Amino acid sequence: MKKRTKIIATVGPASDSLEVIEALILAGVNVFRLNFSHGTHEYHYEVLHRIRQAEKNTGLLTGVLQDISGPKIRVGKIDEPFKLKENDTVEFVAEDILGVQLGENSYRTCINQPTILKQLHIGDYIYLYDGMIRTKVIEASASNVKVVVENSGMLSSKKGVNFPNTRLGIEIITKKDKEDILWGIENDVDFMAISFVQNASDMIQAREIIKQNNGRVQLFAKIEKFDAVENIDAILEASDGIMVARGDLGIEVPFYEVPSLQKMLIRKANEVAKPVITATQMLLSMTEKDRATRAEISDIANAVLDGTDAVMLSEESAVGHNPVLAVKTMFEAIQGAEEIYSFNEFSKFKVIDAADSVNQAAARLCEDVDAWGIIALTTSGTSARKIARYRPRRDIYGVTHDIKVSRFLTICWGIVPAFLVKEDSLEKMLAEVMRQGFDRKALHLDKSYVLTAGDPIGVEGSTNMIRILRANEMEYFHSLIDA
Ligand code: PGA
Ligand code: MN
Repeated sequence: MKKRTKIIATVGPASDSLEVIEALILAGVNVFRLNFSHGTHEYHYEVLHRIRQAEKNTGLLTGVLQDISGPKIRVGKIDEPFKLKENDTVEFVAEDILGVQLGENSYRTCINQPTILKQLHIGDYIYLYDGMIRTKVIEASASNVKVVVENSGMLSSKKGVNFPNTRLGIEIITKKDKEDILWGIENDVDFMAISFVQNASDMIQAREIIKQNNGRVQLFAKIEKFDAVENIDAILEASDGIMVARGDLGIEVPFYEVPSLQKMLIRKANEVAKPVITATQMLLSMTEKDRATRAEISDIANAVLDGTDAVMLSEESAVGHNPVLAVKTMFEAIQGAEEIYSFNEFSKFKVIDAADSVNQAAARLCEDVDAWGIIALTTSGTSARKIARYRPRRDIYGVTHDIKVSRFLTICWGIVPAFLVKEDSLEKMLAEVMRQGFDRKALHLDKSYVLTAGDPIGVEGSTNMIRILRANEMEYFHSLIDA
């Protein structure tokens, strides 16, 4: 029972006990997501410690992704919900007011980020209630923007607002986000996801906060705004990974564009060997039901076949009626897709340097000699990720001396963050990998393996050698341990 694509599950009231967290890991979860749109620091602290405990109990390395909520733009308070109909008008004002009905067909309210108003122009769209109600600007001044409603719907307090044509250029790291980021650093989360990223400088700013506070965390950009899509190359460069955040993205761009954007974003992340997560509504019906729809299973399969590193569960595992069943279903859907996976994409990516070339050759060699796996000695994790982008048919065992790097690899396709080894020579490293591998029955005596390393060891980015460990050599290593 195996899969190569990783599973991320959001923890919430339905899944926050030690028992369920353990069951989720055993069912195939590689990374847990803590959603900072909900819950207190105390709550997340408890959950994080249960995850670490479950990791110990199961012996399976598990990553933690902190999802920073970001500046969700919302309408103000509305006592009596607006029953909006086509051609009604709504005025947005700069002051913080209680929403009111002005006349039979006209209303007035505010938004929580009033500086946006001055950026709007006649003809721009404003979507209300997470895209349910479309409105178009007909009058615009710095303090008052009037829109006409295009389709009916009920608008109540604090519903989400989107601006699908407007480059907002707002601060995306709010005061709360900053506090949450500091919490994440202090509690040593592995990954942080930044919401509503607009451009690379948003990511640079987030990284600066982490650097100033001596944090060590991989930064993911959630791609959920139209301008993030336009700026994707620079955002990827400034990030350690990305999330295709289809929930909000499907509001910001016409929803029928989401599948093609998903493919484009995954392809670009694969190209630079950075992990990519596909998120939202993957098994939404399982929040309430025991069986997924055919469409949902297809959706997971397609994300896998597109080349995603990880697929993610949100409410399905956070508040759903059976989180473990949702993960098991996701596991099966992944396995089904991996039956027809396009492994061994040796020529798909540009080779940019010698280390790159070594990694490509290792993946190819593994296939050519029918080796059982690739053992990658990696200081920063980069060479393991670079091997993974060729999608070899066999597991990649990431060997590192740093538990943090091992956890960074939990999110990456096809990599088993297997061994923690710290020795000062390649020979000793190898002996220790074998000892751990045989002890844990992860390595087999009658199989051969491909090994990649940088020699001398411990120098980042120095992968410069490949070695075949044939079955008879494995026997030899084993005899050393017995002796
Ligand atoms: P969210 O992000 O669940 O935090 O909104 C994911 C998405 O928008 O798809
Ligand atoms: Mn979102």
